[in-house]
Amino acid sequence: MFLPAEKSGEVDLKKTYDAVIVGSGAAGGMAAHVLTSHGMQVLLLEAGKKLNINKELRSMEWPYDHPRRGDMPPDCHALSGREYAIRNPPYAQGSPYKHVYSYVEDGNGSDYAKDIVVDEKDHPFTGTRYAWVRARCLGGKTNIWGRLALRLSDYDFKAASHDGYGEDWPISYADLAPYYDKVDLYLGISGHKENLPHLPDGLFQRATRLTPAEVQLRASLARMGRVLTPYRAGVTTDGLKHNKYRSRCYGRGACDRRVGGCDIHAAFDSPTGLIFPALDTGNLALRTNATVFEVTVDKNTGKASGVSFIDTDTGKTYAAKGRSVLLGASTLESARLLLLSKSTLYPNGMANSSGHVGHNFCEHFMGPGVYGLVKDRVGKPRTLDDGRPGSFYLARFRNLSDRHSKFIRGYGFEGDSGTKMFPDNAYGTPGFGAAYKKHVRDYAGAFIGMGGFGEVLPRYENYVDLDPSVKDRWGVPVLRFHYRFGDNEKKMAADMADSAREMFEAASIEVLAVNREILTEGYSIHELGTSRMGTDPKTSVVNQFQQCHDVKNLLVVDGSTHVSASCQNPTWTIMALCWRSCDRLADELKKGNV
Ligand SMILES: Cc1cc2nc3c(=O)[nH]c(=O)nc-3n(C[C@H](O)[C@H](O)[C@H](O)COP(=O)(O)OP(=O)(O)OC[C@H]3O[C@@H](n4cnc5c(N)ncnc54)[C@H](O)[C@@H]3O)c2cc1C
Ligand code: SF4
Repeated sequence: MFLPAEKSGEVDLKKTYDAVIVGSGAAGGMAAHVLTSHGMQVLLLEAGKKLNINKELRSMEWPYDHPRRGDMPPDCHALSGREYAIRNPPYAQGSPYKHVYSYVEDGNGSDYAKDIVVDEKDHPFTGTRYAWVRARCLGGKTNIWGRLALRLSDYDFKAASHDGYGEDWPISYADLAPYYDKVDLYLGISGHKENLPHLPDGLFQRATRLTPAEVQLRASLARMGRVLTPYRAGVTTDGLKHNKYRSRCYGRGACDRRVGGCDIHAAFDSPTGLIFPALDTGNLALRTNATVFEVTVDKNTGKASGVSFIDTDTGKTYAAKGRSVLLGASTLESARLLLLSKSTLYPNGMANSSGHVGHNFCEHFMGPGVYGLVKDRVGKPRTLDDGRPGSFYLARFRNLSDRHSKFIRGYGFEGDSGTKMFPDNAYGTPGFGAAYKKHVRDYAGAFIGMGGFGEVLPRYENYVDLDPSVKDRWGVPVLRFHYRFGDNEKKMAADMADSAREMFEAASIEVLAVNREILTEGYSIHELGTSRMGTDPKTSVVNQFQQCHDVKNLLVVDGSTHVSASCQNPTWTIMALCWRSCDRLADELKKGNV
């Protein structure tokens, strides 16, 4: 069934496209899908390579089929959690290794994603500590994302009205709900309806099964008024008749074996989910290895006229023209592009008359969690529990109807349990021989763990700007971070660890370990908010349709426009917002209003 080898229409740099899109991840891919389906002529520029992704991922390859059992070559190094905690960026500076990668490559099967993520030697950044994970290839981070696909609610969109901190979003759940529905139906999502106002249900396909330990925890949590639900996965479990590039999930259990990725594309990724169908419309031209370094301006109108980009192989620069420009280069890269686009008209960078570009940077923090043993499961027959694309999600329960005395906003937990093809407990179990094997097998399915994802508040003083001297391999100034977690996050983290223990104990799960430490900033890979939306051009960068206040034919369609992070994973919201904005942009382009 796979994959369109070279379907892209000829890239014509003399032509003025209806839209030039920068980046091909969740945001850029969605923009390409929506605009081409409206008949717009679109050019998509992607900095990374077009990989033969199935060859990269080889999801079902056994460890013994790989020369290093899945590890990267010896001249490669992945940054460890400890390095992020004690060193400062640029992390690859002075490294004896030829290639240095972010922490996602620090583990099992790292060789399968080394061509997907960036080499920190080519892509440095400076400033405060940050575990910045970037993917540079067609599809960006969606090739390896964790697939947890959650909606935001009015507890998030109207959080400021609820607790008085920050700004409300200029939209409410009712504005976005129809677009979440479109994303669900077009891309497929697996889940179980729970009817929670703070975690709205989607149009779910078949949910994955909870393990007995998870059922036990769910029942206990229900008595506390809390909800554990099967992992809401951006995975098609029933199949998608309208998309020939994707298959339904066969429950091969390969999701967690490596850094991520699904070579039958049951898990959503932007190329097979969005870009290949967009190419099939005949309205999309795609150029990879094209790193945009500037949005160009029409001096007469002040509007965006297109972009300038570098061919990453040859280093040559080119220009592309568009009636509109959409930035979907990911939260921090889109902010970098706006800041790089300085001109006499826009001396602080484009769309930055408010001075807010790069600011109000927010995300989720991670670290606190709990690990335990469900004694009733010891010695029980083994079950096939890793044949599912995710385990469970425990929805936020803080600061909904009540108000916590120490912090505002909330957190949720992602967790996992059950029998795996390779039992993790084998590593820590002492002994040898038959008794050792029996012990490992008896206990293999009895462990359960979960880790929190907490909302980091947006603060003006948490920001990125351009480093005045450090440049990337192509001579483009890099980002400098000024970003730290604050008091609210630290207090929330303490509560996260306490409540995790409390919930396990209430469910009669023996607590083996509680982690109280917050991981370095950036670990969640959910960067958000550097070009936030709002109604006031003095305090926000884009309007509710992600159109820049200062430059109406320039849109920022990725996570930069989040006003606050919420505690739910962002990708489904990024795509719903982008769909809504592109519907409107197509309409405006047709009317000649842009
Ligand atoms: C291991 C992992 C697990 C994750 N788990 C989850 C999860 O469970 N749930 C969830 O919601 N999210 C998850 N995420 C985050 C999710 O992947 C992102 O939210 C999503 O991919 C963001 O989409 P994006 O289009 O903004 O950015 P990306 O997917 O990063 O795409 C941006 C693209 O733009 C390109 N680009 C950058 N700069 C330029 C330039 N100057 N010119 C041209 N192109 C450029 C990049 O090469 C890239 O292809 C995870 C991410 C990772 C890595
Ligand atoms: S479990 Fe499903 S989604 Fe995960 S890799 Fe296998 S087929 Fe893909």
